[in-house]
Formats: sequence, structure tokens, C-alpha cells
Amino acid sequence: MSNIVSLDELAKFARRKGFIYQGSEIYGGLANTWDYGNKGVLLKENIKNLWRQYLVQSRVDMIELDSGILMNQRVWEASGHTETFADAMVDDKKTKHRFRADHLIEEQLGIDVEGMSGEEITKIMSENKLLNPKTGKEGDWTEARYMNLMFETNRDKINPSNEETRIYLRPETAQGIFVQFKNILNTERKKLPFGVGQIGKAFRNEITPGNFNFRIVEFEQMEIEYFITPPSKDKQWNKVFEEWLDLQKKFLKVGLALTDENLQQKEHSKEKLSHYSKRTVDLEYNFPFGFSELTGLAYRTDFDLSQHMKFSGESLEYMDPTTGEKFIPHVIEPTVGVDRLFLAILCQHYREEKIENDTRIVLGLPYKLAPFKVAVLPLMKKDGLGEKAQEIFANLRARGLMCDYDESGSVGKRYRRQDENGTPWCLTVDYDTLSDGTITLRHRDTMEQERVKIDELSEWLDAKKF
Ligand code: ATP
Repeated sequence: MSNIVSLDELAKFARRKGFIYQGSEIYGGLANTWDYGNKGVLLKENIKNLWRQYLVQSRVDMIELDSGILMNQRVWEASGHTETFADAMVDDKKTKHRFRADHLIEEQLGIDVEGMSGEEITKIMSENKLLNPKTGKEGDWTEARYMNLMFETNRDKINPSNEETRIYLRPETAQGIFVQFKNILNTERKKLPFGVGQIGKAFRNEITPGNFNFRIVEFEQMEIEYFITPPSKDKQWNKVFEEWLDLQKKFLKVGLALTDENLQQKEHSKEKLSHYSKRTVDLEYNFPFGFSELTGLAYRTDFDLSQHMKFSGESLEYMDPTTGEKFIPHVIEPTVGVDRLFLAILCQHYREEKIENDTRIVLGLPYKLAPFKVAVLPLMKKDGLGEKAQEIFANLRARGLMCDYDESGSVGKRYRRQDENGTPWCLTVDYDTLSDGTITLRHRDTMEQERVKIDELSEWLDAKKF
């Protein structure tokens, strides 16, 4: 287990503190949807900024794209999603519970059914008395039927069965990069190898066992397509692959401070590789329900660009500027979901400390991830302390430092509130502040305090970042 609390308790904590709320809660919710509250928005933004910093902006060979959620339906025919992006489902006829058949079979029989037909899966289900995990009793199972995971809508509201006007909500951001490859080549004039990163929403009609926001139907991805010379001309693809693997690890371990013991690397076996992939490595995190995929890294060959060339009739070839030779680049894809990182970060950094007869809850986020870097607390509201604290708070916010303000309850209670928010520093304004312009800074982790001049606060904070 990666921490001492259960996922349920973590979800309650996240809701109580305004990180994550259940989607459509006042209407009884909508399965597998979550909304991010104020602190959740700030934490998510910080995750995205760190990803950008580590995987895009630190590299001179990287650029970004922001493509649409809605694309021509032919994109998904070319990518193979309309045909093969599906899970086999079974329903328990007695309880009407629906499950992914591959999950039931893998968990209860240890058999991997990837690539099997609906009939083959149905046969395995009927030959083995599989339990319904929600009731613990043997299920009365329907046949296994494949369900495509893409959400779809239709522009033609008068004739919604008009296939020509069907639109899918993208199930991944990656395809936008392939579809714009020609424009990117023409406008950016990049030489191979180079990569394109993209952050954006993706949608999948997932049937899930819960697990908080681990597997949701609307989520954000951060994907990179890194274009390289085909291995027929340059055998170095595995070296590039390893470089990206190292960078993904650095982002997780140094950027997000996820610890070694909570991370493991999973190499996909040859049989489990997608038809287009030559090598895939996942980095898994030790969630309270076990090690599960956090990031993916796949060598996708020239599958996507070749498919889009075939389906669009447009050339997506690259011309080597020195030899004049034309070819379709190959691609290495590092990918990760923001929401899953968010969950891993909560699991990793939530802790409960016993202090005498009390328990202190701390969200020990690294400085760069913390929603608020500083919380401004007046010792009291009266005698001008409240006004002085408000002035300091407004000045810090105006200077671009994200901070919070809290004047209700005892200072001790306010410290605890900020420990739970993950705020590294509490800044207390007291009577000395009015006379000598100093404030007290209390550190979240050590609880030690230091007296600092307000004028020197920015430099002091810069020197203390962790
Ligand atoms: P899984 O095996 O967990 O379904 P996947 O291999 O289908 O994931 P990819 O298609 O490689 O996932 O998507 C890239 C990343 O997007 C994943 O590593 C994960 O972090 C994130 N992701 C994928 N599906 C979801 C989802 N339903 N909810 C939240 N994040 C997701």
C-alpha cells in the first residue's frame, strides 16, 4: 500500500478540502465523472506546468500543439479506433451489473483475453463459474459483447442516424498531432528528430469498478509524438526510447516527488503489444488498489502517419534536407494522464502524523505543486493587524505568488488547515509587524518558525524553494 488511508478516505479528504467534488453531485452524480475545486484546479495547473517544463520546454527539439476535440470522423477510421477501440462487456442478468469481461477473467482466472473474440470470451465465462465482484456470488452472465469506447454525437439532429454527419469525441489527443503533421512541417521547419507535445481533454466511455478518479470518462492527457528517422536508415530508436523513459522517470521522481518504492516499470510482452507497436513500457504507481498504469511509452513505428496518408490521400512524408530523400518518419510516444498523476500525488503526499493525543494531516506537496505557496494569517483581526495582513496578501497576489488568506479560528487551527492544503509556508502578521516590518514564517513540514523582513520575503522564499 502506498499510504495508510483507503481510497474512499482519500476521496473524502479531497472533497472536504475542495480539491475534487463528485460530478453532478446534487443530482445523484454521473458515474465516473469528477469536478475539480479551487485547490484542485491550482494543483492540476502546477502538474501541467511541470510536465511542460520537464518534457517540452527543457528540450530544444520540442514544440506544442492544441488541436480540437472534434475531428473529421475519417481520422478515427484511419487510426483504427472505430473498428478496434472496444472492450468486451458482460452483464449479470440477475443484478444488471455490467463488467469488463477481460478484467473479470484476468482477476479470477489469471487468463489474458486480449485479442480474443466475443465467442471465445463467452466460452471461458461459461466454463468457469465467475463471481460477480459486487455480490460475491456466482453471476448469471450474458454473452460477451464488444462495446466501442468512443462517445459519439451527430450534427444532423433531424436525422441522427445519418452516418455522414457522425462526430466522435476524441478518445486520445495523439491523433491531432499526426493529422497536423504536414502543417507543422511546413510552418516550423524542424529537422528530425523533433517532437510535438499536446495537453488536452480526451473522452472514453469506460465501465469501471470505481477507484476514485483513476479511470474516468472525461480526462486530460499530456502526450508527445517524437518523430525519428526510420530504423532502416538509423538504428538508434531504442536509444531515443530509453532517453524518453529516463525523462518520464525524472518528471515523476524529481518533478512530482513520487518515490522509487511506489514506482515500477512494466515492459509489455511481445504478445501484449498493440499491432502497431514495437516496444511499450508503462510506469506504474502503487495506488491503494495495487500497482497500475500511470504513464505509457510506445514506439508506434510509422503506423499512424502511414494510415493518415492512405485515408487522406495527402503526403505526410518528410524530406531529408541534406540528401533530398523522402520518407515517413517513425514515432515514439510518451503519454500520461493528468488526473491519474493527480491521484498518485494525493496518495504519495498525504500523511497523518501523531502528535501527542492528536493527529496532524499533512499534504506534503513539493513547493512547485502546492496550490498556495504561502498563507497569510493575522494573529488577530483587531488593532490594524487584519488590514496589514490583507495588504501583504494583496501585494503577494499582485506579484504573482499564489497565496491564501485565513483569519478565522486560532492560529493553531489555521496552521492545521494549511497543512492539509499542502501550503509550505504560513506567514503570521503580529504586533511586531506593525512596528518593525517583520513577519513570522512557519514551515509546514518542520513546523519551525523564522522571523523575516517583509521587504526580503521574495528572496527568502526563492532561496527556500523545495
Ligand atoms: P489503461 O490500460 O489504464 O486503460 P491505456 O493504456 O488505454 O490505459 P493510453 O491509451 O495509453 O491508456 O492513454 C495514455 C494515458 O492516459 C494513460 O497512461 C493514463 O495515464 C491516461 N488515461 C487513459 N485512460 C484514462 C481514463 N479512462 N481515465 C483517466 N486517465 C486515463
